[in-house]
Amino acid sequence: MDYGNEWVLLKSLLRGIKPLRKVRDLSTMKNEVLKTKKEHTQKILRVLARTYPHAKIALRFSHHWELLVAVILSAQCTDKKVNEVTERLFKKYKTRDDYVRAPLSEFEAMIRSTGFYHAKAKNIIAAATLIKEKFGGSVPRTMEEILMLPGVARKTANVVLGNAFGIVEGIAVDTHVRRLSQRLGFSKFQNPEKIEKDLMENLPKKDWFRATSLLVDHGRAICTAKDPRCDLCPLAKLCPSAFQFPRFAAHAALPSRKKDNRPTA
Ligand code: SF4
Repeated sequence: MDYGNEWVLLKSLLRGIKPLRKVRDLSTMKNEVLKTKKEHTQKILRVLARTYPHAKIALRFSHHWELLVAVILSAQCTDKKVNEVTERLFKKYKTRDDYVRAPLSEFEAMIRSTGFYHAKAKNIIAAATLIKEKFGGSVPRTMEEILMLPGVARKTANVVLGNAFGIVEGIAVDTHVRRLSQRLGFSKFQNPEKIEKDLMENLPKKDWFRATSLLVDHGRAICTAKDPRCDLCPLAKLCPSAFQFPRFAAHAALPSRKKDNRPTA
């Protein structure tokens, strides 16, 4: 029997199948990577939740409007400094109308030490005016509306909606969350909105709100910007950036550290 034609037919069929198989393999691999990334992110969050069981926002405020003011002031400033400033500010300006009527130069002087005080003062007074005129005197409760306020971007909106109203529409990405997301391999992006998207994809919605506080607390306590203490870090075994910093250069240089660059001490 001559199998020549069948063999040619079979070969042409296989040629058609191969690319399909490759596509399927790639898609399976992509799903595996996504699954692994989700597991990685969630595992880290579980460790942080055990390490910082009382993590919560550090800004001090007594009502929604004060929270909004404090969060606007916290841009490029530490929460500690903001709390010092708002302690005096909230005593002087008690109602939202006090902010509407505030003389700009006097207001600027009060918040000067938080930095960017021209823009912050202008935005806070304009936000107070808009809330009075457009939102019936109350801080808006939706992402769409709160983003209309001057000086409010997604980070501020997420912090205010979550802490004031328990409304969670995203994940607040501040400087700590951004830095830790890159070091921990949650996101390769610099842009806070892209980082937020990555985090939202890899964490269940129930964890979105506390993810910010947990990452912020860890960023302050251990994984600081200039001198992360990987040697004290409960995430060291899970973190792709562990011991990759100047403090640990001597350990990394030792031949025995080639496979495992974590110091034994
Ligand atoms: S191991 Fe180091 S880089 Fe990674 S989270 Fe901990 S302190 Fe930060």
